Amino acid sequence: MDLLSQVHAAAGPYLQSLSSRHVLDADAQSLLDELGGPLPEKGADPAEVIERLLRIGTAAGTASSGPRFFHFVTGGVTPAALAADWTAALLDQNAFSKVSSPFAHEVETVALRWLCELFGLPSTWGGALVGSATYANFTSLGVATHWWGARHGVDTAEDGLAGLPRMPVLSSGYVHASARKALQMLGHGRSQVSVHARDGVGRVDLDRMRQHLASLNGAPAVIIANAGEVNAGDFDPIADLADLAEEFGAWLHVDGAFGLFAALSPRTAGLVDGIERADSIAADGHKWLNVPYESGFALIREPARLGAAFGMPGAAYLPGPGDPGAGYGLLGPESSRRARALPIWATLSAYGKEGHRTMVEHHLDLARHLAARIDDAPRLERLADVPLCIVCFRAVPAGVSDLDDFNRRLGAALISDGRVYAGTTVYDGKVALRPAIVNWRTTAADIDFFVDVIEELVWRATS
Ligand SMILES: *Cc1c(COP(=O)(O)O)cnc(C)c1O
Repeated sequence: MDLLSQVHAAAGPYLQSLSSRHVLDADAQSLLDELGGPLPEKGADPAEVIERLLRIGTAAGTASSGPRFFHFVTGGVTPAALAADWTAALLDQNAFSKVSSPFAHEVETVALRWLCELFGLPSTWGGALVGSATYANFTSLGVATHWWGARHGVDTAEDGLAGLPRMPVLSSGYVHASARKALQMLGHGRSQVSVHARDGVGRVDLDRMRQHLASLNGAPAVIIANAGEVNAGDFDPIADLADLAEEFGAWLHVDGAFGLFAALSPRTAGLVDGIERADSIAADGHKWLNVPYESGFALIREPARLGAAFGMPGAAYLPGPGDPGAGYGLLGPESSRRARALPIWATLSAYGKEGHRTMVEHHLDLARHLAARIDDAPRLERLADVPLCIVCFRAVPAGVSDLDDFNRRLGAALISDGRVYAGTTVYDGKVALRPAIVNWRTTAADIDFFVDVIEELVWRATS
């Protein structure tokens, strides 16, 4: 059997197993030992190598593309996206430029246009496909940095940040760690975010943010609005932040890693009201779009800013930024890059706006179902409203005095049990679980199974 047929033969049974298998099989972890040993001097038969990789991977891998993985915010992979991702590997295009691949360039152009349309943004917007929402935040805040430098009369792409004041960055308590990491990578430092929160949850304090902006006396600033925070899926009031950005001439960046997908349903579109007034938006494909890792995207109101911030002029053997042979490698942080547009193009082609809206609404329904199950369970307590796809709750069994310790241990027990996955967080000072539902395979039965496992583990820990 040739190598690709081996992969194909393993794919069917693996995908079939996703709906019922454990997220992580503890027994299979000993197989990981077979991956090591010294670097082979002489290679082995590739068929044997691929057989071993498939045997170990399908047994010991994490079933995070399956329907019972609720940790982090983790999407699955639609069938069309998976097949297109295989195609991307098959063709191995370099999506650096039109010269390296007119095909990859065209698919990316269409995919970016369709993404703007999907979220109701004007066709004058543009963007960059990147590896993750972290990179989308990096790309957006990189463009914002270049804008901010220009306001001070400096081309930061050419001359860097030296001699400039520090860039004011304002957000609510909902700001994601990856936005801070982006600022860290851009040379601003992750401590540069001024958090204006009015409570322990992190909800924005608009008055204090306004005072801060006013105190800058016209100096340019960046506001980060959060569309979908990770503890409970809540949103900053984007339209209010857009008003502030307009009044004080600030750059408005929206981190909508998964929350941007609220725009797909009339039931939740109100949560992203005003997003079309942003200057930049970061989001993920590998979360709610259900395409494989690594897929994120930055959408930019004035796309010409991408080339100014990320152009790479001056190498005689490469097309320059204005060259007809140029392309997306000069409009974002990466140069050579895989054709990650293919799965995006394929899933949007195959299921359309309606298919993706239906998927989002299915998850909204499942999140409500989970909330109702928790509300009905005497030993579970929901801690937050459920605006979107995350349900934040904790166990409150009678007789337990240290609930934070109990819930932290419950979270660890859930992971080592392995049947379903969810992670813990601290919400308003309380240790809590925060399952996120964004996988197209997840059904109400999976949600019920999740609650059953939680109740069983709570029962075991208290009896
Ligand atoms: C997941 C997430 C990110 C980071 O996304 P990666 O794809 O893991 O880099 C950023 N912001 C928010 C709100 C997220 O949920």
